[in-house]
Amino acid sequence: MKKVKGFTQEESFKMYIAQVERAQRTKKALPYFILSRGPALNPCPVHRKNEGLVLPVDDLYWIDFPMRKQPECKCRVRGLSIREYERIKQQGTQDPDAPQTLDEKGNPTGLKEKRYIPIKEKPIL
Ligand SMILES: [Zn+2]
Repeated sequence: MKKVKGFTQEESFKMYIAQVERAQRTKKALPYFILSRGPALNPCPVHRKNEGLVLPVDDLYWIDFPMRKQPECKCRVRGLSIREYERIKQQGTQDPDAPQTLDEKGNPTGLKEKRYIPIKEKPIL
């Protein structure tokens, strides 16, 4: 069975479902989810068009198009506070494809350049 960061795909999917359930109880503090896609090398067929999607945690999208149900899906969601939501609505969210920054010797630092992509507030289905 294929492993996603040490978990089987089924375990990873169950963790997602648990995350969505937990989010219903914490939605006062974290009312939104933002979708981050998996590696660009292997784009997810389900969520590739909805990178940076922000919707309320109880939106049906998160149930109808769950993360990591398909083996190709390595996408994840993260809870957002209203404050964070307002910030990234203005500024955008970190581009996962931004290049790494280099230190003074020209070695990659492991940090990404600050480059932002606009969020989406309507899913592309
Ligand atoms: Zn996906």
